[in-house]
Amino acid sequence: MKCKICGKETTIHAFGMPLCKDDFVRLFERRVERILKKYKMRDKKIAVALSGGKDSMVVLHYLATHDYDVFGYFIDLDIPPISEISKNIVMKSCKEYSIPLVITNLRKEYGFTVADFRGKSCSICGTIKRYLINKVPREEGAEVVATGHNMDDFIEFFFKNMLGKNYVWNRNMVPYLPSEHPKLLPRIRPLYLVGDLETKLYADILGVKYSPEKCPFAKFSGWKEIFYDIEKKKRNFRHEMIRSIWEMAEFFPEYDVELKECKICGEPTSREICSFCTLKNKIK
Ligand code: SF4
Ligand code: ZN
Repeated sequence: MKCKICGKETTIHAFGMPLCKDDFVRLFERRVERILKKYKMRDKKIAVALSGGKDSMVVLHYLATHDYDVFGYFIDLDIPPISEISKNIVMKSCKEYSIPLVITNLRKEYGFTVADFRGKSCSICGTIKRYLINKVPREEGAEVVATGHNMDDFIEFFFKNMLGKNYVWNRNMVPYLPSEHPKLLPRIRPLYLVGDLETKLYADILGVKYSPEKCPFAKFSGWKEIFYDIEKKKRNFRHEMIRSIWEMAEFFPEYDVELKECKICGEPTSREICSFCTLKNKIK
């Protein structure tokens, strides 16, 4: 194969065409930068929520190597063996990029972990992450939180929301979520226009360190394989799909709920007691 842009011999096929390494990296970064520029991230203090996986590590790499004002945030969920492996990678990378890293150790600081709750690990974990990824970076001075969710994740969420009739959630399938409460940080998703395939390629070409280990609680959903199968027949399917999801988001009904502050911890919530404090109370 020859690179569609420069004609150099290559084995990489991405963004619907053969590309040499240099042109692939350039196009990848252009898509990431398009999102960051559109939402004016250049002057913001950004916290990157790090899991140690390829996506968040690529976001960290990009922001750190393009002079953004950034720091890392990692939650040690105490899930053996992945938490320890991921923590080491995150610590090493932040040191190499010379950027600050904030770590929350769930067991030490809050007295419980995901494993303390039998079953429903991912929904418990989601509650913990949503809460801490907002609270701690805000307390550390962040103005926005960047997460590693990528194009394929959003296409999968979109289909699941449609089939589960959770239409309101599709309003959130966009690259930037503004704040709806003074204590709620906005979210930016720099990988909104690139998927798993592209992000892994980018990480491997540039030698970005990440943990390939999967969480023992992770379930195989099969959705992404379907998208890649469609793309074999429909060139650029995922990219066209995400552009439509972005455009469609505003037509979904609004989740009309007023945010107040949790009576226990003071963090934003739609209820009297937030889900995190409810979880903590169950453990007592
Ligand atoms: Fe948390 Fe593991 Fe579930 Fe991911 S797969 S949400 S890390 S428990
Ligand atoms: Zn609370």
